[in-house]
Amino acid sequence: MPGQHRIQVWIDRDLCKGSGPCFTVAPKAFALDDAMRAVVLDPSAEPAESILEAARECPTAAIYLSLDGQALDP
Ligand code: SF4
Repeated sequence: MPGQHRIQVWIDRDLCKGSGPCFTVAPKAFALDDAMRAVVLDPSAEPAESILEAARECPTAAIYLSLDGQALDP
């Protein structure tokens, strides 16, 4: 995926269980906050493949992605 594309990331914090693996797969893009729910840091700091993998492996499908403004189904 060429670097000029823009991935946007949202997390449905009501779905998030705080268990990972998003923040282990892409630690510069995801972290846990004080409420033990995931937050988005800087998606551009990780390879797009890692962002896709994080979304794919989220056990509650709480991570939503778009690529250049178009919803992306990981
Ligand atoms: S993988 Fe999904 S459920 Fe787990 S912490 Fe990340 S967003 Fe939350």
